[in-house]
Amino acid sequence: STQKNPQICVVGSGPAGFYTAQHLLKHHAQAHVDIYEKQLVPFGLVRFGVAPDHPEVKNVINTFTQTARSDRCAFWGNVAVGRDVTVPELQGAYHAVVLSYGAEDHQTLEIPGEELPGVFSARAFVGWYNGLPENQELVPDLSCNTAVILGQGNVALDVARILLTPPEHLEKTDITEAALGVLRQSQVKTVWIVGRRGPLQVAFTIKVPRPRKRLMELLLQTATEKPGPGAAHQAMATRTWGLRFFRSPQQVLPSPDGRRAAGVRLAVTRLEGVGEAAQAVPTGDVEDLPCGLVLSSVGYKSRPVDPSVPFDFKRGVIPNIEGRVVDVPGLYCSGWVKRGPTGVINTTMTDSFLTSQMLLQDLKAGLLPSGPRPGFAAIQALLSSRGVRPVSFSDWEKLDAEEVSRGQGAGKPREKLVDPQEMLRLLGH
Ligand code: FAD
Repeated sequence: STQKNPQICVVGSGPAGFYTAQHLLKHHAQAHVDIYEKQLVPFGLVRFGVAPDHPEVKNVINTFTQTARSDRCAFWGNVAVGRDVTVPELQGAYHAVVLSYGAEDHQTLEIPGEELPGVFSARAFVGWYNGLPENQELVPDLSCNTAVILGQGNVALDVARILLTPPEHLEKTDITEAALGVLRQSQVKTVWIVGRRGPLQVAFTIKVPRPRKRLMELLLQTATEKPGPGAAHQAMATRTWGLRFFRSPQQVLPSPDGRRAAGVRLAVTRLEGVGEAAQAVPTGDVEDLPCGLVLSSVGYKSRPVDPSVPFDFKRGVIPNIEGRVVDVPGLYCSGWVKRGPTGVINTTMTDSFLTSQMLLQDLKAGLLPSGPRPGFAAIQALLSSRGVRPVSFSDWEKLDAEEVSRGQGAGKPREKLVDPQEMLRLLGH
């Protein structure tokens, strides 16, 4: 019966997917959990988001690996839900489905010039240096003197740090060799981090990780210093940076030939209202900031996965009450697609445990379908009829071993594989 052997499906193998699975397996001794992932490799933003110079954050992978190795859990990579298999098909094969597919899109600036070469989303830039296959073509041109980052959140800070850190300090991290090569040639000397509001409203996470707190203190302490104008100072200080507060991007300025970004026009703002609710309103003044690289870091965004699943386009989340998708019994959500794209891994853990609790409560109350469900067997047949070949967790462990061995010569924890074709070849697919 359902109560005895519930078959549960989780979509997405980032922190939300793995923490949901972990909690379900721990609190129901007979539950079986299948985790579907569209990438060939697991762990979501822990692999493709977290900065390479924050290796301690990635220790959660050890816990996720324990979960994946449980004989009541399976990982199926290379399966894009919504494309290779629909959510209703999953609902038919499982007693319950949990959507934890994160936030795959980014917020656009909606200003003229945004499409110019030299303008990238921070999301794509992060994906590039972290080896996300779809961003490997990005190869940013770092031959300019100045970069401007629009947005002052954690991601903006990560990106600024990667641009400012001497490349030799990144050599022993898991940053890709290709990214390191580009960063070694970088001519970027100045990085401006621009925000609409003031120092009290910045979106850096100050409560949780200590290194962030220190970094923020450092940033705020030096924020009022302008990059030194003197020639001697310039020659000595290899790289400088600063925060620009009360500035809202109005336009990306083109170079004289119109071919690429040459600056950003900022509207000067002032605050109306108090505290967290304070709004930045334009004063009418503008400021032009010359630069050759613009990284927009104004937020991630979830996409709807399947027309059958309700989606709140305004908030960019699946409408839910404590993880129960509104009006769809047996459907749940966790992580960034449930709460919106903010919060650290720990926040995601707490909310994923809560979603799992709701699911287990519903199971206990008899609210989930009764009778056996085929689980992966049924989905496997569907996928195979569509020419989709899932990869397993042991496949990932082979790729993992290959990455670790490729990194060894250079003293790196791993050299990430970035080409899906090569990965499939290595697996003999
Ligand atoms: P994700 O981690 O994005 O996982 C979603 C997964 O779903 C992905 O693997 C994706 O490929 C998969 N997926 C998407 N669509 C489909 C589909 N259609 N079918 C199947 N699978 C799909 N937190 C910290 O605590 N410390 C940090 O240092 C830190 N640094 C960060 C740096 C960056 C640049 C970013 C963006 C975030 C950072 N975070 C950090 C926050 C942390 O990464 C998030 O809290 C967490 O990853 C959210 O988990 P999630 O599972 O909801 O989403």
